[in-house]
Amino acid sequence: MTAGQGVRDELYERLRAYEGRAAATAGVGKDLVSEPMIRHWCEAMGDAHPAYAGPGAVAPPTMLQAWTMGGLSGHTDRSGPYDELFGLLDGAGYTSVVATDCEQEYLRPLRPGDRITFDAVIEAVSERKTTKLGTGYFVTTRMDVRAQDEPAGTHRFRILKYRPAKPKPKPRPSPSPNPKREGEGARKGNPLRSRPVVNRDNAGFWEGVAARRLLIQRCTACGTLRFPWLPGCNACGSAGWDTVEASGEGTVFSHVVMHHPPFPAFSENGEGGPYAVALIELTEGVRMVSNVIGVPCDKVRVGMPVRLEFLRADPELVLPVFRGSEG
Ligand code: ZN
Repeated sequence: MTAGQGVRDELYERLRAYEGRAAATAGVGKDLVSEPMIRHWCEAMGDAHPAYAGPGAVAPPTMLQAWTMGGLSGHTDRSGPYDELFGLLDGAGYTSVVATDCEQEYLRPLRPGDRITFDAVIEAVSERKTTKLGTGYFVTTRMDVRAQDEPAGTHRFRILKYRPAKPKPKPRPSPSPNPKREGEGARKGNPLRSRPVVNRDNAGFWEGVAARRLLIQRCTACGTLRFPWLPGCNACGSAGWDTVEASGEGTVFSHVVMHHPPFPAFSENGEGGPYAVALIELTEGVRMVSNVIGVPCDKVRVGMPVRLEFLRADPELVLPVFRGSEG
């Protein structure tokens, strides 16, 4: 290495040379702007705005990027400097990537039948930055989208390509306060289940689980029970609520058996075999998604009576599950 390397970031110099270059060869949208794609997108987003349906409909502006995407098979014909830039970063150990933000500008409405073309420019590469995730470089790319060869909008997105920070050692988990009611989900050396997302809307539910109680929200204005936990009542809109504790009795309302992809943490034998995911109808009337245990997954049936148990899935996670019985 040359003298003065402590100040000069040679990698940054090489990365910065990509600023202003085309990210890839120009692209063509795989499909014309179309009503079915618009309808599917609006359904997925829950957007019922009348401008997006019926005669004279336009596409939701925020679909801008959707028309440029390559789908599962990708745009195999679009390699270029962006790939080279990624290769440089990967080679230097900045192997992880996270999208950080996205800005769009709309210049013209998109209508069914429009043919989409686009090109992308590597707009900026940041100096090396250290974030909570790790140390790396922000790369901003600007995509210019055209419809029928007229400018339709720009889509600017930024990613952080980084070297992951070393994880901090976790504090040792405390032993279970009530181990005797719990099934044995934890097995040495097995992968862990994904952690539930606990937020201020559902924290009360997980506090209940920690105390081995299955709590259902009840609207204090109209008395309607609801599950999963939500900030407001679907029946009357009130934000007031209290809870009732479920009796633990229920029946299988519907179920699927998961075969692929295998998730060893979810299967009863811990080896990635199939497992039953069921929609349980509690006697109180609400339904919840859970696992059925104690019955081979191919013996789970609609209407099967089940009873609540709390499963210690691993040292840090307790989950409500339902035990079924054959016959
Ligand atoms: Zn209500």
